[in-house]
Amino acid sequence: MLPSRPQPPQRLPAVFSPYPSTDAPGLRGADLDRASERRGDADWVAGLRPQADWLPIWRYRCAIDEGQPQRLRWAELAAEPERAIFLGLRPDDGRAVFCFDASHDNDLGERLRFADLRGAVPVLETADAALLAYARAMVYWQRQHRHCGRCGGATQPRQAGHVLHCPACEVEHYPRSDPSMLCLARDPQDRALLGRQPQWPESLYSVLAGFAEPGETIEDCVAREIWEEARVRIHGTRYVASQPWPFPASVLLGFHAQAQADTPQVEQDELADARWFSREELAEGLSARRLHVPPPFTLSFLLLARWYDEAAPAPLLSLLPGPGR
Ligand SMILES: [Zn+2]
Repeated sequence: MLPSRPQPPQRLPAVFSPYPSTDAPGLRGADLDRASERRGDADWVAGLRPQADWLPIWRYRCAIDEGQPQRLRWAELAAEPERAIFLGLRPDDGRAVFCFDASHDNDLGERLRFADLRGAVPVLETADAALLAYARAMVYWQRQHRHCGRCGGATQPRQAGHVLHCPACEVEHYPRSDPSMLCLARDPQDRALLGRQPQWPESLYSVLAGFAEPGETIEDCVAREIWEEARVRIHGTRYVASQPWPFPASVLLGFHAQAQADTPQVEQDELADARWFSREELAEGLSARRLHVPPPFTLSFLLLARWYDEAAPAPLLSLLPGPGR
């Protein structure tokens, strides 16, 4: 069974982050016992199916209606899904939850409302958003691995959909999450380094981000990304929080870093702009709606808010327009 979730202790030494943190970003905390040790028991998994909740994913979109994930029952499925994925058991009533790729079911595509998960997060309960993030990530991984990356043979699901086996060369493929770093760098004046990608709206700024490359540590990756994107040198990173990010297959790791007093430059890389923002500049821009930051469910926002709220008269969240923000 799912162990009861620990409550954050009142006091912890400064090197530890409380778990779960009280301002954790969204897309985490699915209320589910993953029962990973029982996935290999095919009879047990098959026995769960008739009473289970079924979450369809249609072309990477999730079935959501009036702020609720749409759960289908066994009798509503046109046929048994070929590659059903067991997600886990609900801790309240033990009911199993499965997801499946419904992309070829045009009837279902018309009958249900399918929405982009990123846009729907603000209207979903936190646990529901996390469940759909898990489902979307699993369906994406299965779709991307229908053929073996080693020999090209067709793969077959095992372990209730959590392993894809290649019968031709006996390789097993497992779900992957690509680590991606987000970092809020702070200069000696305690200003925050924020950047804007060229395809974003002109008023939107966020912390800098990049993928870890083979052969480097997470700390190396953070320093390299900030140097490559903004020509700013950092000398120290501190881990803050993480977030699953199934768009399409990442886990985001969030940091604060101490930076040198370098002037940001962006000509050498992909950013359209990068600047130091004081708390006052950020507050003025957000209040006047000429500046925007990522929504509160994102790790980017959490990194920004943790910095801003250290020394501001009101929380960063209070500067955003509501509801839904
Ligand atoms: Zn193979």
